[in-house]
Amino acid sequence: MMTERREEGSGKLFGTNGIRGIPNELLTFGFCSRIGAAIGTFARSQTIAVARDTRLSGDFIGSAVTAGVLSTGKDVVDLGTIPTPALQLYCRNTHRFGIVITASHNPPQFNGIKCIDSDGTELRSTDESAIEDLYHRSDFLKSHWSSVGKITRDDGQVGRYIENIKSLVDTERIRSRHYRVVIDTGNGAAFRSSPELLTELGCRVVSLNSNPDGLFTSRNAEPRPENLSELMLVMKSGGFDLGVAHDGDADRAVFIDESGKFVEGENTLALIIKYMASEGDRIVTPVSSSDVIEEICRGKSLRLIKTKVGAPIVARTMMEEKASLGGEENGGVIIGDNQYCRDGGMTLAKVLDIMAMTEKPLSALIGELPRYILLKKSMETEGRPWSELKKKLLSAFPDNRRDETDGLKIFFEDGWSLIRPSGTESVVRVYVNSKNEKAALILQSMVLNALKP
Ligand code: MG
Repeated sequence: MMTERREEGSGKLFGTNGIRGIPNELLTFGFCSRIGAAIGTFARSQTIAVARDTRLSGDFIGSAVTAGVLSTGKDVVDLGTIPTPALQLYCRNTHRFGIVITASHNPPQFNGIKCIDSDGTELRSTDESAIEDLYHRSDFLKSHWSSVGKITRDDGQVGRYIENIKSLVDTERIRSRHYRVVIDTGNGAAFRSSPELLTELGCRVVSLNSNPDGLFTSRNAEPRPENLSELMLVMKSGGFDLGVAHDGDADRAVFIDESGKFVEGENTLALIIKYMASEGDRIVTPVSSSDVIEEICRGKSLRLIKTKVGAPIVARTMMEEKASLGGEENGGVIIGDNQYCRDGGMTLAKVLDIMAMTEKPLSALIGELPRYILLKKSMETEGRPWSELKKKLLSAFPDNRRDETDGLKIFFEDGWSLIRPSGTESVVRVYVNSKNEKAALILQSMVLNALKP
């Protein structure tokens, strides 16, 4: 689980996905208001958009951050409880800086503060460092009493978000199919947007856990198979074409096919690339992505660019390379025509678009993809530094081809393994990819053995 190792008063505050912590522990009123003041000082737009997910502490953290922003003389537009990608769309379209109060898929006691640049993308780490610097130096703009910021509210963003998604798919064709869809929003931020989107796409919709509930009483906010047993059970009844689940802030979407089977995120991305990319397009994924993506790209003469792990890095690289599609293996898909960020609602509409275009059920579409096994495991490092672990790996596999884009990726005859230290916990993540399940398990145990003290 997350550790609260970022301390007030020194060093780094932003992790790979903004600042995360527990309210009244790391995220005290003082901390949040001062971060708000640092963001207000840093942001180049006069108005800053603020949104939140459904967490119980959203009002507290959001208000404290907002107060800090207002103290600098910047204004706040409060967009309410909406998915992170809906805020990102707002920022891109209005050229306003944004702040989202979310801890994505983390347990309910956590919350977070994540900054969105005025082009709608997640903030560069150099800009996060600039905010940290302002924070540590208490170097805040302090407005005269007569010009402190004001709050306005805007409840229209969910509607605009849905319209934008509809404009990027063949709405009429999807509507003509009358799909039966089960949506599990997991008590999270898409409680309104995704059921409405599906209704507007002509689907017969059954909603699970679409009551906004910051305790996430219905299920864990991480959309992994072990947390989606209800959704899979409903899908197994045989009455539906598609099941979909989001994480807490709905930048991701994962799917269950019409037979009740979980679709791995790398296969969703592979499917979208297969049907939506055109020859010569550029595709961006992190080095942790399954070779199913590589094989699809090779077959369609697409150029695949691999980055370090992390959606913000993938999104930035896509922007720089003018890539059409990208994403991660956890259900985070980035569609360049839409916006350079993960977008759960957009991913859902694209999957329906492909089903409508091909007139095939999801199980058949996934069954036609090349089959790869991607295993993921975390191993406790017990305080051992990455340099020591890396040395052990290099001595265990001295002659293997390797890649050091992120951590250490070691290639074997029948697959590869990526070993990388976590940014937030004292663990290393071990990924293994192979066409063959038995080979994948053997590779995994070889690598785990090599890491042993
Ligand atoms: Mg998320």
